Amino acid sequence: MAAIAAARGDAIDLFGTGREVDARTAARRAVEAGADRVAAIGGDGTIVEVAAGLLEVPEPPPLAIVPQGTANLLALNLGIPPDRESAVSAAFSDSVVRIDCGRANGEPFLIAVGAGVHAELVARADRGTKRRWGVAAYGIAGWRASRGAEALRFRVWIDGEESEIEATTIQVMNVGSVLRRGWEFAHGVTPVDGVLDLIALRASTLAEHVVTAAAVVRGAPTDTDLVVHLPARRVRIEVDPPALLQRDGELAGRTPVEIDVLPRALPIVLPGSGPWTS
Ligand SMILES: [Mg+2]
Repeated sequence: MAAIAAARGDAIDLFGTGREVDARTAARRAVEAGADRVAAIGGDGTIVEVAAGLLEVPEPPPLAIVPQGTANLLALNLGIPPDRESAVSAAFSDSVVRIDCGRANGEPFLIAVGAGVHAELVARADRGTKRRWGVAAYGIAGWRASRGAEALRFRVWIDGEESEIEATTIQVMNVGSVLRRGWEFAHGVTPVDGVLDLIALRASTLAEHVVTAAAVVRGAPTDTDLVVHLPARRVRIEVDPPALLQRDGELAGRTPVEIDVLPRALPIVLPGSGPWTS
């Protein structure tokens, strides 16, 4: 990255993160130091933290993403190449697209927030499993985690309208692809439309997970009534007793949760051939 920058006559400052400085603080410091672009090198967790830091400043510079985790769900959904060399050169791309950010109880998220089996899985996961949460959490390989999971009775307010949904997991998603591009629990989930998407999964037995996974892979997820899809700008989720929440793969307290969306709040650097660039 330093070599490309030098060839372009750009200067790069490196802000390491660790015990003393988290990625959120590092991102803010980079902006205070005058950065006109911030590249996050790391897994989804780091990238989301950097985004949270950028969202704390009034006019954030664009965020470039160099994926370095295992799941790399954000990069996958944004069309950022998984290999390091291509991602680094894409970080210098001139195409910038503003994407939506979700907020859950005031804290930003870029991928999804949810309660139910996914959150339970995050809570129980060892480090190795957690790095693969994107794989396990979406039910394709995750039936093990949900064996014996009972459906919860969620009370949900979608843009003010109350309803009850029985499901083993509810996710409010900003991006839709899981595992690979095109494998989605609902069509049309995109971070550039100013709307989030509530997806409730009802599968609890192995057979139901297989049906759900098959529908997802076939590209017809909502053909099965095991998947509920409702677009939403504001969501409130309650369940009794309160259930664990996950936010972009990290535990984030318990329900109730209030979720809203900051439309097109975060400028992201995409490769010239990204999904929303022309
Ligand atoms: Mg959307």
